[in-house]
Amino acid sequence: MELESIILPGVEEKRPLVIAGPCSAETEEQVMTTARQLASNGIKMFRAGIWKPRTKPGGFEGVGSDGLAWLQKVKKETGMYVCTEIATQKHVYETLKYGIDVLWIGARTTANPFAVQEIADALKGTDIPIFIKNPVNPDLELWIGAVERIYNAGIKRIGVIHRGFSSYDEKLYRNLPQWHIPIELRRRIPNLPIICDPSHIGGKRELIAPLSQQAMDLNYDGLIIESHCNPDSAWSDKDQQVTPNVLSYILNLLVIRDSKQTTENLTELRKQIDVIDDELLSILNKRMRVSREIGQYKKEHHMQVLQTIRYDEILKDRVAAAVKMNISGEFMKTILEAIHEESIRQQIEIINQK
Ligand code: PEP
Ligand code: MN
Repeated sequence: MELESIILPGVEEKRPLVIAGPCSAETEEQVMTTARQLASNGIKMFRAGIWKPRTKPGGFEGVGSDGLAWLQKVKKETGMYVCTEIATQKHVYETLKYGIDVLWIGARTTANPFAVQEIADALKGTDIPIFIKNPVNPDLELWIGAVERIYNAGIKRIGVIHRGFSSYDEKLYRNLPQWHIPIELRRRIPNLPIICDPSHIGGKRELIAPLSQQAMDLNYDGLIIESHCNPDSAWSDKDQQVTPNVLSYILNLLVIRDSKQTTENLTELRKQIDVIDDELLSILNKRMRVSREIGQYKKEHHMQVLQTIRYDEILKDRVAAAVKMNISGEFMKTILEAIHEESIRQQIEIINQK
């Protein structure tokens, strides 16, 4: 993809690029107060949702087009660039009419190719920067598809926003980060800037700092963080918003490691990783060989492939051992599940052989 920089004139070209502002524009006063505080803390890009996609009807669905005039006022008075979410063609036309600087496509919209195509068609002929949030479901292809639709409309200043993926279970996070998905996206399209949205991943203000640090350590380009002059009274997402002062405090604590440093010392360590990966593969191969032998035995003795009691024991035992080595139990479980699934597949293959 031939992309152009998303850094707008006057914005410093250093990590992280920061976009901050309330989840929603609520009143002119709330927007202006928050914007003034953010601007005085050095923030250059202001966000506020004007149209809010809500899971159920009846909640606060955004102030609509009235809010665009407030964003215009923010721009005029503070000099910050203004950004908002669009979900339909009408939103595109309205935001362009009001001179909004940057648009983003929300997670629920990215999940719908018809909606993204409609937006892409409305954007043809413009060169406004567009950010594309990940779809709510962990589907990298769908995310890339949305990026391609916007790119094919002639937009060159594109970035993506990682806001996590919804899950049915109650978890620490509001939306599971599943870091491997944006990491794979970076591998597939290395020049596509990635912004982290720790507010929507975490869902709680305490998680903003650690998630932001993790994003920086993974070499993300920027952060989009919800900030409100009075978070506890916010009309949407109040638990995850911070005041502009707290935001500055969080940003000042970030450790930014330079990715352009020489990698000479790393070369040696990376060689070791290559060797260890080879070993891992050959051990896996050995394990599969034994699994296949067990499969043969089960076949001859007309036994079932899946022996859940044995599998439960293995899981418990290995996870406990991993935790003692300071390896995450969740991680160990995922590995074992993957290995077990492949063992079962190979055993079934043997059992079905004539
Ligand atoms: C938002 O940025 O306020 C928002 C609605 O985000 P998402 O699309 O990630 O849910
Ligand atoms: Mn929000």
